[in-house]
Amino acid sequence: MIRSSVVIAGLLLAAATGAASAQEQVLNLYSARHYSTDEALYTNFTKATGIRINRVDSDDAGILARLKAEGAASPADVILLVDAARLYKGEVDGLFRPVKSKVLEDAIPAQYRGPAGAEGSPWFGFSTRARVVVYDKLKVKREDVDTYEELGDAKHKGKICIRSGSHPYNLSLFGSVMQHMGEQKTEQWLKGFVANLARDPKGGDTDQIKAVGAGECQIAVSNTYYIARLLRSNAPEDKALMEKVGIVFPNQQSWGTHLNIAGGAVAKNSKNPAAAVKFLEYLASAEAQNYFANGNNEWPTAKGVAVSNPALKAMTGGDFKAETIPLAAVGANSVKVQQMLDRVGFK
Ligand code: FE
Repeated sequence: MIRSSVVIAGLLLAAATGAASAQEQVLNLYSARHYSTDEALYTNFTKATGIRINRVDSDDAGILARLKAEGAASPADVILLVDAARLYKGEVDGLFRPVKSKVLEDAIPAQYRGPAGAEGSPWFGFSTRARVVVYDKLKVKREDVDTYEELGDAKHKGKICIRSGSHPYNLSLFGSVMQHMGEQKTEQWLKGFVANLARDPKGGDTDQIKAVGAGECQIAVSNTYYIARLLRSNAPEDKALMEKVGIVFPNQQSWGTHLNIAGGAVAKNSKNPAAAVKFLEYLASAEAQNYFANGNNEWPTAKGVAVSNPALKAMTGGDFKAETIPLAAVGANSVKVQQMLDRVGFK
């Protein structure tokens, strides 16, 4: 008994020494996240595991295109994207390797995971952002913009600014609305919505908020982290802008405000799948969740993890009702939503 444990200890020691002298382990990360706080996250992961992160930056569409082009020769191990519709796209295009992990299943609620098959889930959401309404406090009454449905109401003709309808953030928002209202009503709603636009869609979310400030429109739609950035800004023009606008988390009396996710997956052709899973598990830890979510003014998805972020608190007054539908369904709806947008002429 004693002898065998000595032998085992000896073997473990040999394995450990072997690992130390072997080539340094590296994970190739394709990331659509470009936040400086993510750097601290990678450094801490390397400190804890000895695995170095080699990051390749692109946007969601660029990463998916690159994975497709590289095929079986792709060096990618881990993929980080910032939208449910894009995660869905990567999943159906077969670019991800399903992951079965007790750690991830325990930490991440099912609604923020890709549909689980026998081999596990194709992707996991690690932070959430809400898609909310911003309005000119002098010209618009809050109760006239406190539901998504009202964005399609003729009372708002010519008032709304929004980025391209086909942008993943909007495909996901409209996919959520379709999940709640059904196909037919959603198409009617989109028809009304496009008739209410103050101008052709252009720019990003921040541009829409600024357009409200400039008087070009009275109502805008934006992800919460862009609003938080403006709220935290010390620039006088940003302060003036945020004085002028109100922020509404829509549908508090019904299905709740739409949430999107930033999430991760293991690349289909990863040469280091075990280390890649380890990295995703690390992202679900309390420490990583704080960097991952809070660094970009988002909310963590992992159970029991809370961040204290003054800008988020100022925006919500502490808490809000979020929708509870699976993000996988929202992603799947994006295909039909795109067809509707083409039919109603929502660019
Ligand atoms: Fe964004």
